Amino acid sequence: MTTNRKVALITGAAGGIGAAVARKFMREGINLALADQSEAPLEALLSEAEGLGVTAIAFAGDLTEASYCDALPQHVQTAMGSLDILINNAGLIRRGPITEATDEDYSLSMTVNVEAPFRLSRASIPLMAANGGGVIVNTASCWGKYPGPNHLVYCMTKAALASMTQCLGRDHAHQNIRVNAVCPNEVNTAMLRTGFEVRGLDPEKAVVELNASVPIGHIAEPEEIADVVAFLASDESRYVCGSLLEVNGGKPVF
Ligand code: NAD
Repeated sequence: MTTNRKVALITGAAGGIGAAVARKFMREGINLALADQSEAPLEALLSEAEGLGVTAIAFAGDLTEASYCDALPQHVQTAMGSLDILINNAGLIRRGPITEATDEDYSLSMTVNVEAPFRLSRASIPLMAANGGGVIVNTASCWGKYPGPNHLVYCMTKAALASMTQCLGRDHAHQNIRVNAVCPNEVNTAMLRTGFEVRGLDPEKAVVELNASVPIGHIAEPEEIADVVAFLASDESRYVCGSLLEVNGGKPVF
């Protein structure tokens, strides 16, 4: 299938921010390769895209499988004609200081949050270069730029992703491949809400309390992050390479 439309591969497309990015892109007429380990939630996005006349295909899989990550960019290009935009958005959070971190917390977080973007970027860049260019946007975190309390493993992975972004942004600009990261603070998604649940808190009340800690008045909705991802994926940001763009409503990490 070959069209003149751009093709974007989004990981974590079934999650809060990933689905918002998918909806933003489909409204812009970008064809979608939707990747997630949760396949069922992708169905709604496929129907919405169809309704807008946008081609969308689900490439469900587990990012802990190296062979899935290594092959995915070529699969997308073969099925959809090109790979113009890669959104490394999937991620997971494990909480606690180092003394509470298990081997599994460490290895799973490193595999999904760092190794998968490494593999996907490594496989995508030659395809993009051969097509005359492309864009990669990573979902890092303010907590990868500054140390948030008691989330050592998560912060380490996001710092690694931020460093990967800066290195790739520098190394591949000459191939017309721009690599940047969006760095949210707190976003109103399952990732944040499940954290309240495990601590026995009512997520609705906890979000209201958290809203009061943000200078702009509320934690981010996924769409507020997706708009910035779309900017970084667009030609409007054509001179932005290797940036870590904080999207935090004025709230520092403390
Ligand atoms: P989310 O939990 O709603 O979405 C994460 C998605 O990643 C899920 O759909 C999940 O199925 C997918 N995923 C996780 N492990 C996977 C695996 N092994 N294989 C395939 N898919 C997998 O969370 P979200 O808030 O939308 O998070 C998106 C990104 O934003 C993450 O990288 C996260 O670290 C980052 N982020 C979130 C916040 C926040 O407060 N929510 C803040 C800063 C950064």
